Amino acid sequence: MTYLKRLPRFEYLGPQSLAEVCGMIAGTSRDEVMLLAGGTDAILQMRRRERVPRRVIGLKGVAELDFVREQADGGLAIGAMTTLRTLLASPVVGRRYDLLRETAAQIGGNELRNVATVGGNIAGALPCADMSPALMTLGARIRLSSGRGDRWLPLEEFFPEFGRTVAADDEVLAEISLPPPASGGAGTYLKFHDRHSMDMTVVGVSAYVVRDERSRTFGDLRLAYANGAPTVFRAKRAEAVLRGRALTEEGLEEAAETACAESSPRTSWRANGEYRLELIRALTKSAIRQAWEKASSRQEARP
Ligand SMILES: Cc1cc2nc3c(=O)[nH]c(=O)nc-3n(C[C@H](O)[C@H](O)[C@H](O)COP(=O)(O)OP(=O)(O)OC[C@H]3O[C@@H](n4cnc5c(N)ncnc54)[C@H](O)[C@@H]3O)c2cc1C
Repeated sequence: MTYLKRLPRFEYLGPQSLAEVCGMIAGTSRDEVMLLAGGTDAILQMRRRERVPRRVIGLKGVAELDFVREQADGGLAIGAMTTLRTLLASPVVGRRYDLLRETAAQIGGNELRNVATVGGNIAGALPCADMSPALMTLGARIRLSSGRGDRWLPLEEFFPEFGRTVAADDEVLAEISLPPPASGGAGTYLKFHDRHSMDMTVVGVSAYVVRDERSRTFGDLRLAYANGAPTVFRAKRAEAVLRGRALTEEGLEEAAETACAESSPRTSWRANGEYRLELIRALTKSAIRQAWEKASSRQEARP
């Protein structure tokens, strides 16, 4: 049992621009300086003494990191400081990226969603983070900013190992960018958690299906998992199983079995690895089927 203690002493800085943030973290290490977004994870980490930073940089005042914007190419740009509540309320998200809305709605309760940010959910690098699998199946890329400039990378390359990202100590996660939704595409996020809405995810599965209308087969399938391994990951071999095939029970079984073979869930006090594998098997089939049905009904509803 880890007890929550009073917060350790630290200096608090409240920059107003991304350039200021980058200047403040240049040449520092993550051990001494911590970025604070909504604080729903970070404050607990400090109270458990998992992190004892000398300086905390609050990102709340950095308005340029708080946006949801439609892009000229039909894609979407989300600032790292966008709260889950803002994402849920965004008309463009509701209209064109309902997988994001469905996922955000399953995270914590209202109080948490009012302050927790998309960036904090990703940058915390927890294997149980729910936004990352959904964003990965939508083809997200992320922008990391530092005093040295910006760089973009696919979200699926962000998590090298448990609890870590490939961001350097002087880099801030600034933006998440999504391509336009695929025609004939639809996704779903299914998660299993213990007792009530405030419990963390035991296993989560995001499935995104692009249905080929003419041949009625899987034109594309993307699968990503929370708590299926030490990091959020895409199950690319399982995805390949169904591409070009129609939806059948045997196909679903084969894809779910392959996803289990690609997974390496950990045993923790919350659930053991074998139990998580059973959840992966069951949730994979249900998520693919639901995404397929959504994609089909959208195609049928088209004039
Ligand atoms: C009761 C409870 C229930 C929860 N339920 C869920 C749940 O169902 N699903 C789920 O996924 N999570 C859940 N969480 C975890 C957490 O609330 C979310 O992951 C949340 O989105 C974290 O965002 P934040 O803005 O609070 O991040 P913070 O706590 O402020 O930051 C998290 C980490 O990311 C770093 N960071 C933040 N922003 C940036 C940035 N822009 N660039 C670089 N690093 C950054 C911080 O330094 C810190 O290490 C729950 C937490 C609690 C307390």
